[in-house]
Amino acid sequence: MSHVVGLDVGGTKIAAGVLDPEGRVVARMLAPTPAADPPALRSAIVDMVEELRRAHEVDAIGMSAAGFVRVDRRGVMFGPNLDYGVEPIGDALADTLGLPVVVENDGNAAAWAEHRFGAGQGVADQLMVVLGTGVGGGLILDGRVYRGGHGLAAEIGHLGLVPEGIPCPCGRRGCLEQYASGSALERDARARAADGGAPALVEAAGGDAHAVTGRMVTELAKAGDQEAIALVHELAEALALGIATIHAVLHPPLVVIGGGLGSAGEVVLAPLRAALAAALGDVHRGVPEVRGAQLGNDAGLIGAADLARHAPVTR
Ligand SMILES: [Zn+2]
Repeated sequence: MSHVVGLDVGGTKIAAGVLDPEGRVVARMLAPTPAADPPALRSAIVDMVEELRRAHEVDAIGMSAAGFVRVDRRGVMFGPNLDYGVEPIGDALADTLGLPVVVENDGNAAAWAEHRFGAGQGVADQLMVVLGTGVGGGLILDGRVYRGGHGLAAEIGHLGLVPEGIPCPCGRRGCLEQYASGSALERDARARAADGGAPALVEAAGGDAHAVTGRMVTELAKAGDQEAIALVHELAEALALGIATIHAVLHPPLVVIGGGLGSAGEVVLAPLRAALAAALGDVHRGVPEVRGAQLGNDAGLIGAADLARHAPVTR
Protein backbone atom coordinates (compact mmCIF):
# COMPACT_ATOMS: atom_id res chain seq x y z
CA MET A 1 0.00 0.00 0.00
CA SER A 2 1.26 3.41 -0.80
CA HIS A 3 0.39 6.86 0.41
CA VAL A 4 -2.83 8.86 0.42
CA VAL A 5 -3.47 12.57 0.79
CA GLY A 6 -5.80 13.85 3.50
CA LEU A 7 -7.36 17.30 3.39
CA ASP A 8 -9.14 19.15 6.15
CA VAL A 9 -11.00 22.06 4.61
CA GLY A 10 -12.03 24.63 7.18
CA GLY A 11 -13.58 28.06 6.95
CA THR A 12 -10.24 29.86 7.22
CA LYS A 13 -7.55 27.33 6.31
CA ILE A 14 -6.95 24.13 4.38
CA ALA A 15 -4.68 21.55 5.99
CA ALA A 16 -3.26 18.86 3.73
CA GLY A 17 -1.09 15.92 4.65
CA VAL A 18 0.36 12.73 3.22
CA LEU A 19 -0.61 9.67 5.23
CA ASP A 20 1.54 6.56 5.23
CA PRO A 21 -0.03 3.07 5.58
CA GLU A 22 0.40 3.18 9.39
CA GLY A 23 -1.61 6.38 9.66
CA ARG A 24 1.37 8.67 10.17
CA VAL A 25 1.40 12.11 8.60
CA VAL A 26 4.72 12.20 6.74
CA ALA A 27 4.33 15.57 5.00
CA ARG A 28 1.96 18.47 5.49
CA MET A 29 0.93 21.83 4.07
CA LEU A 30 -1.32 24.69 5.15
CA ALA A 31 -3.00 27.33 2.98
CA PRO A 32 -5.73 29.94 3.43
CA THR A 33 -9.25 28.93 2.31
CA PRO A 34 -10.81 30.93 -0.53
CA ALA A 35 -14.14 30.62 1.26
CA ALA A 36 -16.35 32.56 -1.15
CA ASP A 37 -14.84 31.51 -4.49
CA PRO A 38 -15.48 27.86 -5.49
CA PRO A 39 -13.07 27.81 -8.50
CA ALA A 40 -10.31 29.33 -6.33
CA LEU A 41 -11.05 26.78 -3.62
CA ARG A 42 -10.65 23.93 -6.10
CA SER A 43 -7.42 25.27 -7.54
CA ALA A 44 -5.98 25.89 -4.06
CA ILE A 45 -6.62 22.23 -3.22
CA VAL A 46 -5.27 21.02 -6.57
CA ASP A 47 -2.08 23.05 -6.05
CA MET A 48 -1.56 21.54 -2.59
CA VAL A 49 -2.09 17.98 -3.79
CA GLU A 50 0.23 18.49 -6.78
CA GLU A 51 2.91 19.85 -4.47
CA LEU A 52 2.60 16.87 -2.10
CA ARG A 53 2.60 14.43 -5.03
CA ARG A 54 6.01 15.63 -6.15
CA ALA A 55 7.64 13.87 -3.20
CA HIS A 56 5.19 10.98 -2.58
CA GLU A 57 3.36 8.54 -4.80
CA VAL A 58 -0.30 9.04 -3.93
CA ASP A 59 -3.19 6.61 -4.61
CA ALA A 60 -6.25 8.50 -3.39
CA ILE A 61 -7.47 11.67 -1.72
CA GLY A 62 -9.73 12.02 1.28
CA MET A 63 -11.29 15.35 2.11
CA SER A 64 -12.83 16.23 5.48
CA ALA A 65 -15.40 19.02 5.28
CA ALA A 66 -17.66 20.79 7.76
CA GLY A 67 -21.18 20.57 6.41
CA PHE A 68 -23.69 18.27 4.81
CA VAL A 69 -21.77 15.77 2.72
CA ARG A 70 -23.58 13.87 -0.02
CA VAL A 71 -24.34 10.25 0.81
CA ASP A 72 -22.25 9.16 -2.20
CA ARG A 73 -19.32 11.12 -0.66
CA ARG A 74 -18.67 13.04 -3.89
CA GLY A 75 -19.36 16.52 -2.65
CA VAL A 76 -20.74 18.90 -0.05
CA MET A 77 -24.43 19.88 -0.33
CA PHE A 78 -24.14 22.68 2.19
CA GLY A 79 -21.22 24.13 4.11
CA PRO A 80 -21.94 26.65 6.87
CA ASN A 81 -18.59 28.43 6.47
CA LEU A 82 -17.75 28.25 2.79
CA ASP A 83 -19.11 27.95 -0.72
CA TYR A 84 -18.21 24.70 -2.48
CA GLY A 85 -20.02 25.63 -5.70
CA VAL A 86 -22.61 23.66 -7.61
CA GLU A 87 -20.45 20.90 -9.09
CA PRO A 88 -19.59 18.23 -6.50
CA ILE A 89 -16.08 19.15 -5.38
CA GLY A 90 -14.98 15.52 -5.15
CA ASP A 91 -15.84 14.97 -8.82
CA ALA A 92 -14.08 18.16 -9.85
CA LEU A 93 -10.91 17.22 -7.98
CA ALA A 94 -10.99 13.65 -9.28
CA ASP A 95 -11.25 14.90 -12.88
CA THR A 96 -8.40 17.37 -12.48
CA LEU A 97 -6.05 15.17 -10.45
CA GLY A 98 -6.88 11.77 -11.95
CA LEU A 99 -7.22 10.17 -8.51
CA PRO A 100 -10.18 8.75 -6.57
CA VAL A 101 -11.52 11.32 -4.11
CA VAL A 102 -13.65 10.66 -1.04
CA VAL A 103 -15.40 13.56 0.70
CA GLU A 104 -16.43 12.95 4.29
CA ASN A 105 -18.12 15.01 6.99
CA ASP A 106 -15.53 16.29 9.47
CA GLY A 107 -17.15 14.62 12.50
CA ASN A 108 -17.33 11.29 10.69
CA ALA A 109 -13.73 11.61 9.53
CA ALA A 110 -12.53 12.41 13.05
CA ALA A 111 -14.49 9.47 14.47
CA TRP A 112 -12.93 7.14 11.92
CA ALA A 113 -9.43 8.46 12.67
CA GLU A 114 -9.83 7.91 16.42
CA HIS A 115 -11.28 4.44 15.75
CA ARG A 116 -8.39 3.45 13.48
CA PHE A 117 -5.41 5.14 15.08
CA GLY A 118 -6.44 7.01 18.24
CA ALA A 119 -8.49 6.71 21.42
CA GLY A 120 -10.99 4.21 20.02
CA GLN A 121 -8.74 1.53 18.57
CA GLY A 122 -10.22 -1.92 18.86
CA VAL A 123 -13.71 -0.70 19.85
CA ALA A 124 -16.30 -1.56 17.18
CA ASP A 125 -19.07 0.75 18.43
CA GLN A 126 -18.32 4.27 19.52
CA LEU A 127 -19.62 7.79 19.54
CA MET A 128 -17.32 10.70 18.77
CA VAL A 129 -18.23 14.12 20.08
CA VAL A 130 -16.28 17.05 18.64
CA LEU A 131 -16.60 19.89 21.13
CA GLY A 132 -15.52 22.96 19.24
CA THR A 133 -17.28 26.24 18.52
CA GLY A 134 -20.28 24.01 17.80
CA VAL A 135 -20.79 20.32 18.49
CA GLY A 136 -19.96 17.81 15.76
CA GLY A 137 -20.30 14.08 15.93
CA GLY A 138 -19.46 10.79 14.33
CA LEU A 139 -20.73 7.28 14.87
CA ILE A 140 -18.77 4.10 14.38
CA LEU A 141 -21.14 1.14 14.44
CA ASP A 142 -19.94 -2.40 13.90
CA GLY A 143 -16.54 -1.05 12.84
CA ARG A 144 -17.90 1.23 10.11
CA VAL A 145 -18.83 4.88 9.80
CA TYR A 146 -22.60 5.11 10.13
CA ARG A 147 -23.92 7.74 7.70
CA GLY A 148 -27.65 7.07 7.67
CA GLY A 149 -29.89 7.09 4.62
CA HIS A 150 -28.98 10.58 3.41
CA GLY A 151 -25.49 10.79 4.83
CA LEU A 152 -26.34 13.18 7.63
CA ALA A 153 -26.30 10.86 10.63
CA ALA A 154 -24.61 11.85 13.89
CA GLU A 155 -25.33 15.59 13.63
CA ILE A 156 -25.51 15.44 17.39
CA GLY A 157 -25.06 19.18 17.90
CA HIS A 158 -28.68 19.53 16.80
CA LEU A 159 -30.11 16.95 19.15
CA GLY A 160 -33.18 18.55 20.71
CA LEU A 161 -32.30 19.15 24.35
CA VAL A 162 -34.52 21.95 25.67
CA PRO A 163 -38.11 22.45 24.41
CA GLU A 164 -38.59 26.10 23.41
CA GLY A 165 -34.94 26.65 24.34
CA ILE A 166 -32.26 28.92 22.90
CA PRO A 167 -32.68 29.48 19.13
CA CYS A 168 -30.08 27.70 16.98
CA PRO A 169 -28.84 28.88 13.55
CA CYS A 170 -30.15 25.56 12.15
CA GLY A 171 -33.70 26.88 12.59
CA ARG A 172 -34.72 24.85 15.63
CA ARG A 173 -34.67 25.79 19.30
CA GLY A 174 -32.92 24.17 22.22
CA CYS A 175 -30.28 22.22 20.26
CA LEU A 176 -27.48 20.57 22.24
CA GLU A 177 -24.80 22.88 20.83
CA GLN A 178 -26.59 25.88 22.31
CA TYR A 179 -25.75 24.44 25.76
CA ALA A 180 -22.64 22.30 25.41
CA SER A 181 -20.22 23.91 22.97
CA GLY A 182 -17.30 26.32 23.07
CA SER A 183 -19.55 29.17 21.96
CA ALA A 184 -22.20 28.29 24.58
CA LEU A 185 -19.54 28.21 27.29
CA GLU A 186 -18.21 31.57 26.16
CA ARG A 187 -21.69 33.11 26.02
CA ASP A 188 -22.58 31.88 29.51
CA ALA A 189 -19.21 32.87 30.95
CA ARG A 190 -19.49 36.39 29.54
CA ALA A 191 -23.01 36.75 30.94
CA ARG A 192 -21.88 35.59 34.36
CA ALA A 193 -18.84 37.86 34.24
CA ALA A 194 -20.99 40.84 33.23
CA ASP A 195 -23.33 40.13 36.16
CA GLY A 196 -20.43 40.29 38.60
CA GLY A 197 -20.67 36.56 39.31
CA ALA A 198 -17.21 35.62 38.08
CA PRO A 199 -14.57 38.14 39.20
CA ALA A 200 -11.61 35.89 38.36
CA LEU A 201 -12.85 35.57 34.77
CA VAL A 202 -13.18 39.33 34.43
CA GLU A 203 -9.65 39.72 35.73
CA ALA A 204 -8.34 37.09 33.29
CA ALA A 205 -9.99 39.03 30.47
CA GLY A 206 -8.24 42.25 31.47
CA GLY A 207 -11.33 43.73 33.11
CA ASP A 208 -13.62 43.29 30.08
CA ALA A 209 -16.40 40.75 30.70
CA HIS A 210 -17.10 40.60 26.96
CA ALA A 211 -13.53 39.49 26.26
CA VAL A 212 -13.85 36.28 28.32
CA THR A 213 -13.09 33.16 26.23
CA GLY A 214 -13.86 29.48 26.67
CA ARG A 215 -10.17 28.78 27.17
CA MET A 216 -10.04 31.23 30.06
CA VAL A 217 -12.88 29.28 31.68
CA THR A 218 -11.15 25.89 31.36
CA GLU A 219 -7.80 27.32 32.50
CA LEU A 220 -9.38 28.92 35.58
CA ALA A 221 -11.33 25.73 36.29
CA LYS A 222 -8.04 23.81 36.25
CA ALA A 223 -6.68 26.34 38.75
CA GLY A 224 -9.66 25.68 41.05
CA ASP A 225 -11.78 28.79 40.47
CA GLN A 226 -15.30 27.89 41.65
CA GLU A 227 -17.24 29.99 39.13
CA ALA A 228 -15.25 28.54 36.23
CA ILE A 229 -15.75 25.02 37.58
CA ALA A 230 -19.50 25.66 37.84
CA LEU A 231 -19.63 26.81 34.20
CA VAL A 232 -17.80 23.67 33.03
CA HIS A 233 -20.12 21.50 35.13
CA GLU A 234 -23.19 23.08 33.54
CA LEU A 235 -21.76 22.30 30.11
CA ALA A 236 -20.94 18.73 31.19
CA GLU A 237 -24.48 18.19 32.48
CA ALA A 238 -26.05 19.36 29.20
CA LEU A 239 -23.68 17.21 27.17
CA ALA A 240 -24.35 14.21 29.41
CA LEU A 241 -28.10 14.54 28.78
CA GLY A 242 -27.44 14.49 25.04
CA ILE A 243 -25.12 11.50 25.27
CA ALA A 244 -27.61 9.68 27.50
CA THR A 245 -30.27 10.09 24.80
CA ILE A 246 -27.96 8.65 22.14
CA HIS A 247 -26.98 5.91 24.57
CA ALA A 248 -30.62 4.86 24.96
CA VAL A 249 -30.79 4.22 21.21
CA LEU A 250 -27.34 2.91 20.30
CA HIS A 251 -25.65 1.93 23.55
CA PRO A 252 -22.08 2.65 22.50
CA PRO A 253 -19.59 1.35 25.09
CA LEU A 254 -17.20 4.20 24.31
CA VAL A 255 -17.54 7.96 23.87
CA VAL A 256 -14.51 9.84 22.54
CA ILE A 257 -14.44 13.57 23.23
CA GLY A 258 -12.43 15.73 20.81
CA GLY A 259 -12.32 19.33 19.65
CA GLY A 260 -10.87 22.30 21.47
CA LEU A 261 -12.87 21.69 24.66
CA GLY A 262 -12.05 17.98 24.57
CA SER A 263 -8.36 18.82 24.46
CA ALA A 264 -8.75 20.71 27.75
CA GLY A 265 -8.63 17.19 29.24
CA GLU A 266 -9.79 16.01 32.65
CA VAL A 267 -11.16 19.39 33.66
CA VAL A 268 -13.94 18.67 31.15
CA LEU A 269 -13.87 14.84 31.03
CA ALA A 270 -14.13 14.19 34.79
CA PRO A 271 -17.32 16.23 35.31
CA LEU A 272 -18.71 14.73 32.10
CA ARG A 273 -18.17 11.18 33.45
CA ALA A 274 -19.89 12.12 36.71
CA ALA A 275 -22.79 13.82 34.91
CA LEU A 276 -23.19 10.88 32.54
CA ALA A 277 -23.31 8.39 35.42
CA ALA A 278 -25.95 10.58 37.09
CA ALA A 279 -27.94 11.01 33.86
CA LEU A 280 -28.00 7.27 33.18
CA GLY A 281 -29.03 6.62 36.75
CA ASP A 282 -29.16 2.93 37.37
CA VAL A 283 -26.25 0.55 37.12
CA HIS A 284 -28.04 -1.91 34.85
CA ARG A 285 -27.76 0.33 31.81
CA GLY A 286 -23.98 0.42 31.91
CA VAL A 287 -22.23 3.76 31.61
CA PRO A 288 -20.09 4.24 28.50
CA GLU A 289 -16.43 4.87 28.99
CA VAL A 290 -15.42 8.47 28.21
CA ARG A 291 -11.97 9.05 26.73
CA GLY A 292 -10.26 12.15 25.38
CA ALA A 293 -9.40 12.10 21.67
CA GLN A 294 -5.76 11.47 20.82
CA LEU A 295 -5.27 12.87 17.34
CA GLY A 296 -6.11 16.52 17.96
CA ASN A 297 -6.41 18.76 14.93
CA ASP A 298 -5.10 16.03 12.62
CA ALA A 299 -8.12 13.78 13.14
CA GLY A 300 -10.16 15.04 10.17
CA LEU A 301 -7.25 14.83 7.76
CA ILE A 302 -6.15 11.40 8.96
CA GLY A 303 -9.67 9.95 8.97
CA ALA A 304 -10.55 11.24 5.52
CA ALA A 305 -7.29 9.95 4.07
CA ASP A 306 -7.74 6.51 5.61
CA LEU A 307 -11.34 6.30 4.38
CA ALA A 308 -10.11 7.17 0.88
CA ARG A 309 -7.55 4.39 1.12
CA HIS A 310 -10.03 1.74 2.20
CA ALA A 311 -13.17 2.79 0.34
CA PRO A 312 -12.26 4.98 -2.61
CA VAL A 313 -15.02 6.53 -4.67
CA THR A 314 -14.16 6.29 -8.34
CA ARG A 315 -15.60 8.55 -10.99
ZN1 LIG B 1 -29.54 23.36 15.83
